[in-house]
Amino acid sequence: MKTIKLSDGREITYELTRKRVKNVNFRAKENGIVAVSANSRVSVRQIEDFLAERADFFLKAFEQMQKRALENSKNSRLVRFLGRDFPVRIIENSREIAVLDENELRVFTKSSDESYIAGLREKAILTRFAALCRELDGEVRARLSEKGFAPPPVRISIKDMESRWGSCSYNRGHISINSRLSAYPRETVLSVFYHEYAHFWHHDHSQNFYRFLLELYPDYYKHNNVLKQN
Ligand SMILES: [Zn+2]
Repeated sequence: MKTIKLSDGREITYELTRKRVKNVNFRAKENGIVAVSANSRVSVRQIEDFLAERADFFLKAFEQMQKRALENSKNSRLVRFLGRDFPVRIIENSREIAVLDENELRVFTKSSDESYIAGLREKAILTRFAALCRELDGEVRARLSEKGFAPPPVRISIKDMESRWGSCSYNRGHISINSRLSAYPRETVLSVFYHEYAHFWHHDHSQNFYRFLLELYPDYYKHNNVLKQN
């Protein structure tokens, strides 16, 4: 890490990584440092000249990031889980863990770093969401069996996805569930499970697919439409 001083007294700190990149890449990071990656032919002098030239741009980006972080920390006094808001309570304690119980999310930490605390919170939510997904998976499989359909072995993964609530690789026996669903009601998450499981029998979104789905889960639209409004 290196800091350069500009002629007007302001400073920019950067971290240089040598990589086989075409030119030079600059990225303003949350912690107020510019991450620079450059190939070995680009000199430190060239990099620092560029940083000095574009100082206004980088300093402004940091300012905006800080503003955003502050706003997020205000909003973060509540977390949404299964359609309900839970207040967040910070308890000064060295356990460094967050626990979601019936009424609140308790964060045991000695740190006051917002992004670190957000990480603890997220982990607690994800742990609870993963447990719920195992439960819902069992529920859907039981329902299928009851209806006379034998569900194939399925591996479930939970991940953050940009544009889909779930996906099914029917030939690999793999279902992905979007972790962002943890904010929605249980029945809505369940509707995604039914939807993805139904793809093992109907690969497209044909009328037969929806007929099959509604037979398994008659309230499908009621609970799944919540997602379409977002
Ligand atoms: Zn689908």
